[in-house]
Amino acid sequence: MNIFEQHESEVRGYCRSFPTVFASAKGAWMTDTNGRRYLDFFSGAGVLNYGHNPDRLKQALLAYLMRDGITHTLDMYSEAKAAFIEGFQQTILAPRQLTYKLQFPGPTGTNAVEAALKLARKVTGRETVVSFTNAFHGMSLGSLSVTGNGFKRAGAGIPLTHAAFMPFDGYMGENTDTLDYLESVLLDNGSGTELPAAVIVETVQAEGGVNVASADWLRRLREVTQRHGIVLIVDDIQVGCGRTGHFFSFEEAGIVPDIVTLSKSLSGYGLPLALVLIRPDLDQWAPGEHNGTFRGNCPAFVTATAALGYWRDTGLQEAVDRKCALVQTHLERMLHQHGVEGSVRGRGLIHGVEFADTSLASRISQACFERGLVIETAGIEDQVLKLLPSLTIREDELAHGLDIIDQGLRAALSQGLRQAA
Ligand SMILES: *Cc1c(COP(=O)(O)O)cnc(C)c1O
Repeated sequence: MNIFEQHESEVRGYCRSFPTVFASAKGAWMTDTNGRRYLDFFSGAGVLNYGHNPDRLKQALLAYLMRDGITHTLDMYSEAKAAFIEGFQQTILAPRQLTYKLQFPGPTGTNAVEAALKLARKVTGRETVVSFTNAFHGMSLGSLSVTGNGFKRAGAGIPLTHAAFMPFDGYMGENTDTLDYLESVLLDNGSGTELPAAVIVETVQAEGGVNVASADWLRRLREVTQRHGIVLIVDDIQVGCGRTGHFFSFEEAGIVPDIVTLSKSLSGYGLPLALVLIRPDLDQWAPGEHNGTFRGNCPAFVTATAALGYWRDTGLQEAVDRKCALVQTHLERMLHQHGVEGSVRGRGLIHGVEFADTSLASRISQACFERGLVIETAGIEDQVLKLLPSLTIREDELAHGLDIIDQGLRAALSQGLRQAA
């Protein structure tokens, strides 16, 4: 029994799938205490979009620490925060004609979601929030109430209320536009659903199984929420910060949400930082009405500001588009070559392979780990193999990881045959 199993709570999760002790990491690679190297196709669930320890961020952080730059200010003004706000304004918001106000909540994703839900309820005076089947928005009670996963919801230990779930795009099969249902519910006083304060949505449901909403569906959702005066919250915590190619995942659909939540890759260095973007007229907070000790962490502001350097030109976005095509082609060919039933979904550098045999994805993940690749599963039954390499991964590294997935699939299939025999 190792020190973790001996002393750390049973709640530990990912370490059970990837049972080694990691010590260092660079770019797309992680190294454990035995010196074994693993290619990373998980990127800390989308925290490390720019890879591990990217040099330009590390240099900025080291310089800040060496000059005793202030590390903690609650939400008092700091030089580090000013630089981030200015950079974010110039590099991200202004070029997209976005006028959001910035709120820095506590540093994790769920803090941003809680703030967004609270604000939408305060502004509209309404209670219900609509979210979607298989949504994932975090583990604190408000976020959990709009999260689909029944196992995670049961952990709350109390009723999770004031949420109404609607079918996500594709949930009822290819030929049904699920927004027909949402729209009729909103229009019908007999539907049993009150007019909601907000609709919260992921443009690509990451934890929920890499379910991709179409641009048309997102545009219609924007149109419907606007018409009914419902706050549209896009939770871009996992698929923002370039994961789908553009900085924001909703840009491709050409929509402007009322509130946007960001966290995971915002600092670009694995340092906790979260941000809520608010349509200016909705910024009706009273001073201190929603606070927290770690609102905006100065070292994280420093790396987040340095990370904006990736967005001064379109180089990264073009690289993501190129790598997206490589991944998609490879995965489709793989299913075909092995004669395995399944489907490939994704945008940018988030892809999922859903297998008809629901146990296959977990077995492939395990076989990949044995072969030096860290790759996770997603979906309610872990039935989807989820590819989340860093955006900055080299194309030869990407190809290497895709080869290991092939080998992992072959191993999982022959293991299945052996068990059947
Ligand atoms: C990870 C995630 C969250 C929660 O973030 P935490 O930092 O774990 O609280 C919320 N929404 C989405 C879409 C996420 O992927």
